[in-house]
Amino acid sequence: MEHIQVMGVQGLPLIHAGDNIAAMIGERVPVRDNDILCIASTIYSKARGYTKLLSAITPSERAVRLGNLNGEDPRFVQAVLDASTDIIMEHPFILSELAFGHVGVRAGVDQSNIEDGMVIFLPPDPMKAADEVRAEIRSIAGADTGVIITDTCGRSFRRGQTGNAIGWSGFPAIRDFRGDTDLFGHVLKITEEAVVDEIAGFANFVMGESNNGVPAVVFRNCPKWTGHDNLYFTNNEDITKRVLKKEWCQ
Ligand code: GDP
Ligand code: MN
Ligand code: MN
Repeated sequence: MEHIQVMGVQGLPLIHAGDNIAAMIGERVPVRDNDILCIASTIYSKARGYTKLLSAITPSERAVRLGNLNGEDPRFVQAVLDASTDIIMEHPFILSELAFGHVGVRAGVDQSNIEDGMVIFLPPDPMKAADEVRAEIRSIAGADTGVIITDTCGRSFRRGQTGNAIGWSGFPAIRDFRGDTDLFGHVLKITEEAVVDEIAGFANFVMGESNNGVPAVVFRNCPKWTGHDNLYFTNNEDITKRVLKKEWCQ
């Protein structure tokens, strides 16, 4: 098996609304068929204009209440509420669900890596975003790559944020080991590996969180996998969400 290569895309400028990030990445890295291109959601959102000036946001009563409760700017809280379809926890920070199924702290709304007084929203449909970038890369570079849109996310039970996949295109999210046998012939009954999150986690490590200026990472020679795309729990399946909502949301 060939060694897996991981390459941060260097030299990208600050991204603004209207920029063609696929072309900008394609100019800097000669991508090939079967490469996996990870893109920080933050630059996709900036390129597509999913950003807002805080000064243009009028906070609702609930945003004022939660702003006071959590010590946050109520306009920022309003941005988080606007991005959310379901609030799971109100305090000590907002944890909410977005329309596309992702559950995230402050709905993934960021105030970093953008000008003062502005917020960046997660792409509203990251699966479509990944499909779009993939199609653009195919037409610009002539390569059939996979694409993962990543975001840095907090997690339960462990300190520290990691990169997660919020949208993907070109392969299934989950490698399904169920029905496979282990080294001793035991049939695996439960194991589903969230491969897109594992790759996003490594991409996030290469990107860094602050001023690296590396919002895209290319993986080459990854083995292929088969499985399915049901990365997000349904409401019924998500035990943690049900408990949190009952305890931490008014
Ligand atoms: P997120 O994880 O999607 O919220 O994005 P981050 O704000 O953590 O940024 C991930 C990486 O992209 C870091 O290396 C940032 O320095 C870099 N980055 C963010 N915005 C830009 C940009 O507009 N241009 C460039 N070149 N890098 C950026
Ligand atoms: Mn983010
Ligand atoms: Mn990040």
